[in-house]
Amino acid sequence: MVGDREAIKAEMQRQVRQWCGFGCVICGCPLYIYEHMVEYAENPVHERENLTLLCPLHELEKTKGLLSRTDVQAANREPFNRSRGVTDPYGLHFSGGRCEMLLGGNRFLSEGRRLVPMLVNNQEPIAFDFNNDGHLELNASIPDRSGEVALLIVANEIVLATTAWDITFIGTRLTLRHGPGDFQFEASFQVPDRIDITRLDMRYGDTHVWVDPQGLHVRGPGPRTRDLNGTTMAGGFEHAIALDSRILRPPGIHL
Ligand SMILES: [Zn+2]
Repeated sequence: MVGDREAIKAEMQRQVRQWCGFGCVICGCPLYIYEHMVEYAENPVHERENLTLLCPLHELEKTKGLLSRTDVQAANREPFNRSRGVTDPYGLHFSGGRCEMLLGGNRFLSEGRRLVPMLVNNQEPIAFDFNNDGHLELNASIPDRSGEVALLIVANEIVLATTAWDITFIGTRLTLRHGPGDFQFEASFQVPDRIDITRLDMRYGDTHVWVDPQGLHVRGPGPRTRDLNGTTMAGGFEHAIALDSRILRPPGIHL
């Protein structure tokens, strides 16, 4: 009986996610469920070797008998995303004429014009843009500690590097971790027009930018740390926060 099933332990789930490259082993989709390759009814224990990830479509096909156990086991030996180093793209459903970004307790709003809360050493890590049809699009490029792109969003299409220690995408919340309790990025996609970024950890040369429950923080160049929390900025401007003193783009805040 499903109701009597013991839950799969968190660490075992993480190992399955990492093995599978954080997506369906057949198609790479980052929305998935945990699947027992030999059915739980046949072998009622949770074993790492018997667990894999399938997206809702491929899970349904397996349940209906349109996808064989043998094929799932073969895919699990060489998961789709692992061989490519990234997850298959997933399209976020942003739309409408306004947008809003929460960044460490700071609120940024725009109507019809692009919204780029941060300019860090001439780079725009995250932005809301409106395309030629007026359609709202999220764009982001978040580097990991070695400078490689860990998370890339181009025109709402999200792609994740499979080198992470852990990535979870539960409900609307996407979380990337370097290790236990060590956050790279966490955001909730509040469709149709808002993103809440609650964790961030980025380094650009001597500049360290991070978001935690206390707000947005910037350290460097030099030893000084600057903090921002609880601000609201509305208007059609770019680069609300410029983390480079050489660039002045009023009316933003220059940390
Ligand atoms: Zn799939």
